[in-house]
Formats: sequence, C-alpha cells, structure tokens
Amino acid sequence: MPSANILNVGTELTSGITADTNAAWLARALGEVGYVVGEIAVVPDDARAVGGEIARLASSGGVLIVTGGLGPTPDDVTRDGLADAMGVPLERRDELIETIRTFFDSRGRAMPASNELQAMLPIGAEAIANPRGTAPGIVARVGGADVFVLPGVPDEMKAMFQTAVVPRLASAGAGVVRWRSLRCFGAGESDMGERLGELMARGRNPLVGITADEAVMTVRIRATAATTTEADFLLGASADAVRARLGPWVFGEGLDTLADAVARLLTQTGLSISVAESCTGGLLATRLTDVPGSSVYFRQGFVTYSNESKESVLGVPAKLIAEHGAVSGSVAEAMAVRCREIAATDIALATTGIAGPSGGSAAKPIGLVYVALADAGGATVRETRLGAHLLRDQVRDRSVKVALDWLRRTLMKRSSPE
Ligand code: AMP
Ligand code: MG
Repeated sequence: MPSANILNVGTELTSGITADTNAAWLARALGEVGYVVGEIAVVPDDARAVGGEIARLASSGGVLIVTGGLGPTPDDVTRDGLADAMGVPLERRDELIETIRTFFDSRGRAMPASNELQAMLPIGAEAIANPRGTAPGIVARVGGADVFVLPGVPDEMKAMFQTAVVPRLASAGAGVVRWRSLRCFGAGESDMGERLGELMARGRNPLVGITADEAVMTVRIRATAATTTEADFLLGASADAVRARLGPWVFGEGLDTLADAVARLLTQTGLSISVAESCTGGLLATRLTDVPGSSVYFRQGFVTYSNESKESVLGVPAKLIAEHGAVSGSVAEAMAVRCREIAATDIALATTGIAGPSGGSAAKPIGLVYVALADAGGATVRETRLGAHLLRDQVRDRSVKVALDWLRRTLMKRSSPE
C-alpha cells in the first residue's frame, strides 16, 4: 500500500495546550483511502523547524499532509517553511487576494490587510480553495513527495481533505483500511488477550488489538482489502469470532457506553428502573439519563449521602446503619429494596462505598463499594474492591460501571432465558 506522513504545525500542540486531533483524524482518513501512515510529526510555529521537517518527511516520497500555520498572523509560518523546503521564494497571487476579499464581502466585512499574507505562495505551488475559511490550502512537490498543506482548524482541514486531497491522491482506491470496535467490560487486558489467542497474531488480516480506557476495553479490528465490501466482510467474520470468544464481556460497538447497552435492554424488556445512591452522588442517575429516550424506563433517583437521609428518605433502619456501617452490604441491600418500593419500579440499584481520598480504613479501604440490585425476586448485593490506588473520580466512575454492567447482565438473562 502507498505511504503517507503527517506533519502538524502549532506551538499550542507542542506545548500541550491543544491536543493534536488532526493527526488522529488524518491517519484514519488516509487509511480509509488505502494509505499506510509511516510517521506523524509535530513542530512549533517556527519556520526553520517547519521547513526542516517538510524536507525530511518528503524525502521518503509518497504523500505528506501538513496542517496548521496558514493563518494571517506573524506566527503562521508554514508557507515560509514550505518555500524553504522547496528552495524557492514566496510570491503574491493576486487572484487569491480576490478570493479572500470575496469571503469577507459575503459576510459584510472589509478584508483586514493582514489577510493578504494568505495570498503568498511558494513559486511553483498550487492553491486549494477553502470552502470554510480564508486560508487557501497548498499543493506542492518536494523531494519526490506530493505535499498537501491544509488549515489547522479541524473542520476546515477535514472539508479540504475530503474535497481536494482525496480526489488528487493518485493511488486512492488501490486498497482500503476499515475498522470496527467492540466495547467490553468486566475483564482485564490479559484475560481478554488469552481468550482471543491467535486472533491477535501480529500480521494477521484483520488485525485485532485491545485498548483500555477507564476500565472499558475496546477490541479494535482492522481489515485491509481491495474494496470496502471485501474489508467489511473480513471485519464481520472477525467480529463474530471475537464475540464468540468474549461472550457477555462484549456490551456494544463503536462508541457505545454501558448506559447505551442498558438502555437497549430496558427498552426491549419494558422494565422500569430507579436508583438510590450514596458514594456515586447522582452519577448513576446521570449516566442512565444521558441516553436520549431514558424517560421510558427511568423513574426516580435518590441521592442519600448522609445516614439521616438514608433513614428519613429511604427508611433504612437506623439500627442497620449503626450495626454494619453506612458502607455495608446490608445497607446497600436495604437501600435498593426501599428504593424499589418507593419508586414502584421493576428494578432498583443502590450504591454505597468509600470514594476517598479520606475515610478509608484497613477493614474498609478506599475503593470498597457495595452495589445492590433489587427486583421482584428479592435483592442481591455485590462487594467490589476497586483498589485503594484509585482517585475519587475513578472510584465513583467504576462504581457506576459495575452497577450498570450488573444491570446489563441481569437484563440479558431476562431478555434471552436459556
Ligand atoms: P492554525 O491554522 O495553525 O492557525 O490553527 C488554528 C486553530 O486550529 C488552532 O488555534 C487550534 O485551535 C486548531 N488546531 C490547529 N492544529 C490542530 C491540530 N493538529 N489538532 C487540533 N486542533 C488544531
Ligand atoms: Mg497556528
């Protein structure tokens, strides 16, 4: 497959103020038109650095996509860097000034003099129209590579890549790379790796890999093929094989969240839900109601943070709290049972735990969380030790995920009884 390099220009990128999302988007978009990306480089707004990197990355031939630094201010130096790499001076293109002036006219504004800078192009380079902004893109030949320079603003960059770059990529259509992601919860990377076995072999097509993000694991499947249809066929076969091996760990695809998976099952089964929360402080209700259409199944949430509110709002017996402590299986169970009764729902979930950073002890460490699920058959409690190393936000986030995942698995049994 043909190769491409990517260069992103901006001091905001090299200083960590802005995340380089252009690189990720471009790498994927190039893959979809059959290019393998060999290198992604980032340089500050410095003409020498830009020129040096363009020359270096262009020396390997293929295609080089550059983004950023095409604006009208003195820190926009990508044009100068490109001219250096080409070994030619910049020249003023009057026809570009007219295009830029028209852009301002159409918005009822006068063109600032500084925008004339955007009409400067290296001799021998060609301009690409910018349908979304003032900065024209640039196409040039440097050291055997086709270089495309695009604006840094992400939506201008994307529009120009699709409309102007893709049609000019000589070998576009020679092959495609397509991706599919399966979202999983409940297992670690190594457990999943063991189950997937040879599906994860290097060099296999499709290639299967695992990434982890806040306890949600994503199995990414990448297929390379001559056509989209063929790639999708390969992806389908591998996705089926992955699902067969991972079973109920898989809760969805693409950008699905656990709450999305739960939403589908609640809608399908027609069951209603309420929640009583202590350590998660409303986060469980938030996640459940993040999903559009959640009013169909979500009835009510209680945030009973203090012992008094557990007693007065939910009617958890004071004696139970005194005997076992607010963070206990018995209290979680009573919260869930009472919540279900008060809200009159089919299912209720309750959480109580130690989120930290203070309040942990040897017997009840940070990360100790009890989740209870009550339904018509009674209540069940789970004790989870998430780990004392976790930050407060992480304990709360994981508690919500554990609760949602348990609900998901319970609903799965209901919707497809064995
Ligand atoms: P520029 O064209 O370099 O003036 O970039 C304009 C704006 O686009 C910057 O201020 C950033 O907010 C954004 N931007 C530039 N490059 C990137 C990038 N690689 N990833 C994400 N945003 C970017
Ligand atoms: Mg910039």
